[in-house]
Amino acid sequence: MSVFSSESFDNHEQVLFCSDKDTGLKAIIAVHSTAIGPGAGGCRMWQYASEEDAISDVLRLSRGMSYKNALANVGLGGAKAIIMGDSKSQKTPELMKAFGRYVDSLSGRYITAEDVGMSVKDMEHVATQTRWVAGLVRGNAASGDPSPFTAHGVFCGIRASLRYLNGSDDLKGIRVAVQGLGNVGYNLCRELHQAGAELMVSDIHAVHVERVVKKFGATVVAVDAIIGQEVDVFAPCALGAVINDETIPQLKAKIVAGAANNQLAEARHGEALRERGVLYAPDYLINAGGIINVANEIKGVPVTVEAGMAAVEVVYSTLLEIYATAEQEGRPTSEIADEMAKARIEAAKAAGGWHIAA
Ligand code: NAD
Repeated sequence: MSVFSSESFDNHEQVLFCSDKDTGLKAIIAVHSTAIGPGAGGCRMWQYASEEDAISDVLRLSRGMSYKNALANVGLGGAKAIIMGDSKSQKTPELMKAFGRYVDSLSGRYITAEDVGMSVKDMEHVATQTRWVAGLVRGNAASGDPSPFTAHGVFCGIRASLRYLNGSDDLKGIRVAVQGLGNVGYNLCRELHQAGAELMVSDIHAVHVERVVKKFGATVVAVDAIIGQEVDVFAPCALGAVINDETIPQLKAKIVAGAANNQLAEARHGEALRERGVLYAPDYLINAGGIINVANEIKGVPVTVEAGMAAVEVVYSTLLEIYATAEQEGRPTSEIADEMAKARIEAAKAAGGWHIAA
């Protein structure tokens, strides 16, 4: 087991291994970069097959947060935490409090929030031990459920993509296939429907499908047929790695723009989409609405829902900038996004970086 020689290691500033015998806590906090600001990113609880898998995941996810936060321009660096274990059977208030004490030990270099396997209630337990926690529903500037903001960012990303391809971002009559109708997928369908789009949808949970059919007149598609639909836009809002060697040849949409994290199974699939003439909206840019809104909570600035939504709309112009550069340079949009994020981090470093106020 190694960190420095792990393939996922990317000169992370700090990796903290946390254990607490009494509560059974085994966690890793990875702070990838604080060049722009404090490292912010959620805490995931997951039953990893091995410690190597856990290390690799937290290293990868924390770097992803640096890129996401850099592109979102929210004054935050990138970090992430993982807790090893089954969130359904092994999570207790005491375990979350023990995790909170480790978060506190970093004195604000890491700010945590919910991720997979975590709830608002869990963050409330963490908050009894540290102030370096966001994604709460109570308290000054609490930002609540991030999903509507994430969905709004994806909606803006779809509009920007249409503008780039068609010269107009009007959604009337545009056909969108939405994969996954959970918190983000549902809110995205609502916005798309209001804007006049036609929806094709799929989900493995019948109740989730029924609510968008009933409310937004969506057409149901079989789970394994959603990618190959004759649509203008494919919006993955369920799983990662949906864009891969098997699915790319099935794509008929000219735009891939959705909320799911890590949509490209491998980095080379960005180029594969470009070669096929598919415009890819980099996932971590267009799903940044949640973090853009949470950033206000971190800064302690209460904002209205309207102001939070308006702030998310920065996604539109950043995406157009990425598309223009990608076209000029004949390179995949995913590569351009990574480069833009890295350049912002390097520029912040060169300017002296962020430091905890004395
Ligand atoms: P969610 O768990 O509420 O919804 C996911 C939905 O996908 C569920 O309804 C599930 O039944 C469905 N699903 C699972 N497998 C499927 C399959 N094979 N085909 C079709 N549907 C399937 O999650 P969410 O909060 O809506 O997030 C969706 C995606 O967006 C995730 O990848 C998440 O990491 C990412 N994301 C979410 C946020 C946020 O603010 N919630 C922010 C950034 C990124």
